[in-house]
Amino acid sequence: LEPNSFADESKKVIDFIAEYYRNIEQFPVQSKVNPGYLSDMLPKTAPYFPESLDDILKDVTDSIIPGLTHWQSPNFFAYFQATASTAGFLGEMLCTGLNVVGFTWLSSPAASELESIAMDWMGKMLKLPSSFLFSGTGGGVLHGSTCEAIICTLAAARDDALRRLGGSENITKLVVYCSDQTHFTLQKGAKLIGIPPSNFRSLPTSFSTEFALPPETLRAAIEDDIKCGLVPLYLCATVGTTSTGAVDPIEEWGKIAHDYKLWFHIDAAYAGSACICPEFRHYLNGVELADSFSMNPHKWLLTNMDCCCLWVKRPTLLVDSLSTKSEIVGHNSFDPSHPVDYKDWQIALSRRFRAIRLWIVIRRHGLDNLMYHIRSDVEMAKRFEALVKEDGRFEIVVPGRFSLVCFRLKPKHESQGSELNRKLLEAVNSSGRALMSHSVVGGVYFIRCAIGSTLTEMRHVDDLWKLIQEKAKIIYLQDGN
Ligand code: PLP
Repeated sequence: LEPNSFADESKKVIDFIAEYYRNIEQFPVQSKVNPGYLSDMLPKTAPYFPESLDDILKDVTDSIIPGLTHWQSPNFFAYFQATASTAGFLGEMLCTGLNVVGFTWLSSPAASELESIAMDWMGKMLKLPSSFLFSGTGGGVLHGSTCEAIICTLAAARDDALRRLGGSENITKLVVYCSDQTHFTLQKGAKLIGIPPSNFRSLPTSFSTEFALPPETLRAAIEDDIKCGLVPLYLCATVGTTSTGAVDPIEEWGKIAHDYKLWFHIDAAYAGSACICPEFRHYLNGVELADSFSMNPHKWLLTNMDCCCLWVKRPTLLVDSLSTKSEIVGHNSFDPSHPVDYKDWQIALSRRFRAIRLWIVIRRHGLDNLMYHIRSDVEMAKRFEALVKEDGRFEIVVPGRFSLVCFRLKPKHESQGSELNRKLLEAVNSSGRALMSHSVVGGVYFIRCAIGSTLTEMRHVDDLWKLIQEKAKIIYLQDGN
């Protein structure tokens, strides 16, 4: 890395990215390429001699950009948004520019210490109890994804349970509980830590509770398992489910987890960010009963990928499960009076300086602007929901939560509902003017409009609604509705 050419070349890339953002609305939101398109455009072997940055950026324009789905487009309303910001980008530049590897405190003291500080800041913004904070009796770590965070907590819960049960052969008795709305990341985690698939309980939800899992269903499932000689291990609640934004009853679940000694995790990957606003904080009531809590600032808190915050009440259990002995990197069991070695809080050994990104995002925006950002997305979602309700051809499938609106075209006969809405979604998405996604709950296929891409303004929401109406009209005419 030669500092002078580094600065010149970096400026070119920054200009390139700025131009991309200037033109982003001109690209079809969903890429229109066919599988394998890129290998037809790029050489079959790596270059022997270095190539110029200009040539490479030209290839990015000609070959890469056409194959991108533009997650940063203001017309992106699919999945859950992956927000970005100048502050997030600056933080990423510092992360990758300083390029330190903070696996232990000693390997880069500032990286470890800033992470602990940023996790406490974030925890305080969410009004987490001090039992989750370093300034209290717990602590937090940054992971790349909820999936990793969940695997680590599952491993900690498993090892603690097996110690108490007196041997690893008891793993076949351990049971993991969630609702059928829980993100599949939990199932993946349970599989990876060796929970038999038959011991994974995905309990049914319904329209009657807006897809939150009633505590009675949970308690009954646990009781049944205990009667069969099984051991309840881990319970995962969601604040803001992926399909509909449902919120499980945290307080009641927490009491059940306590009664049966389950590890209780709360996954607030998407909606956790909203809980920095006082009007949404009540969704976390009962969090003090959890053993661990995670949320992704890379979804909704203006922090470029990747950033998942995980807090645990008993860091010792995490460290006991994830630490390894090595002369090179040293070994610590967790001791609150000693610096944190984050290698023992995650799967991998090496790690990026993610904390600097989150720290800069929080500092550059301040809590005030971060709350404003959440609230303006929620306002836009309310407006979109109102537009849907005004048009008699449409219906809201479950009441809107956070910035997610779940709606569909009303079918003449229920049996036509899926096909009708699939056609509508396909018509909207293939236009290239917007992108939404779908889900199915209680057997009902519906369209999800997730508002929250960083550049989305009210005019984009209004344009989306016009586009939906335009396509709906054509589909209605075609179907003779
Ligand atoms: N949990 C919820 C509620 C989600 O909505 C998602 C993704 O959208 C995830 C977990 C998965 O998160 P990650 O990709 O960080 O593992």
